[in-house]
Amino acid sequence: MNKNSCKNRAAGSTPRINMIGAYLKELFGEKVVKLSLDGGFTCPNRDGSKGTGGCIFCSADGSGDFASDIPGQMKLLSDKWPRAKYILYFQAHTNTYAPAGELRAKFGSALSYPFEGGAPVGIAIATRPDCLADDVLDYLSELNEQTFLWVELGLQTARDDTAALINRCYPRAVYEDAVAKLTARGIPVVTHLIFGLPGESKEDMLDSVRYAAQPLREPFPGNRYLPASKHIFGLKFHLLNIIKGSRMENLYPGYVPFDSIESYIELVTDALRIVPPDITMHRLTADAARSLLIAPEWSYRKRTILNGIEARMRALDAFQGDMYE
Ligand code: SF4
Repeated sequence: MNKNSCKNRAAGSTPRINMIGAYLKELFGEKVVKLSLDGGFTCPNRDGSKGTGGCIFCSADGSGDFASDIPGQMKLLSDKWPRAKYILYFQAHTNTYAPAGELRAKFGSALSYPFEGGAPVGIAIATRPDCLADDVLDYLSELNEQTFLWVELGLQTARDDTAALINRCYPRAVYEDAVAKLTARGIPVVTHLIFGLPGESKEDMLDSVRYAAQPLREPFPGNRYLPASKHIFGLKFHLLNIIKGSRMENLYPGYVPFDSIESYIELVTDALRIVPPDITMHRLTADAARSLLIAPEWSYRKRTILNGIEARMRALDAFQGDMYE
């Protein structure tokens, strides 16, 4: 039985999942699409300052395999959504791994790119929680005043033993501090989790979701775009893909995360039900380029996975957060 079922929910009119796409459309009045950009950063978990070799799941491109140039992406996206607004998404590698002055130059020049149809409405910056020095936080606060910003933190798992296994090279206490510092400044945080890491049970994965979705140390005070909240702004669920060229390919030959597409769909729906409804969902699976994908072989069937999640939520009459305690 749903623990938090709401009698006023009219199935079919209330979205079962608080997806970021619908959230941004409401916020900006038009469809908003992300342009994935490579800012030319590297990663401290590759160059030896935090670790070497990188996280074992990470591809040679630093998990930014779809990043490309602005004009090329604009052409593709504007043909599909001529009225869309844009968020600049710095995804590849660690996008705050540079002095604040360099960040200002890179992000500033991207934000001033002459977009047809107007300036981008925001910027999303993916990084590690151990790459947020005070001067970087000060700069991000400035950026947060200037435009709609969120910072994505790659947590992957709440378990420190799994984190050591995947060579994440920071303990979860560092993540907690980073979230507290960012949210205290009114900077929205989106947390990235990976489902299917070696050695983790379904309950471990759900524990990571509970951990990321727990109330903040101090509530997010709100900013000119977002209301105050007790929680992080968003969550990303990423299916572990074994990618050619990642260390996992050699360390775990033959490893297949999840024994079926159905077991992944079941996990994600169960996870959504323990995420508070005000947390926006930025991703429910992962789409690796087929040329790079080793396993699971079904992971490229993104539409099938998303439809399966929707169908299971409907069949259970489930809503995001209805099992949140
Ligand atoms: S996942 Fe992120 S932190 Fe880990 S090696 Fe890749 S870019 Fe670096």
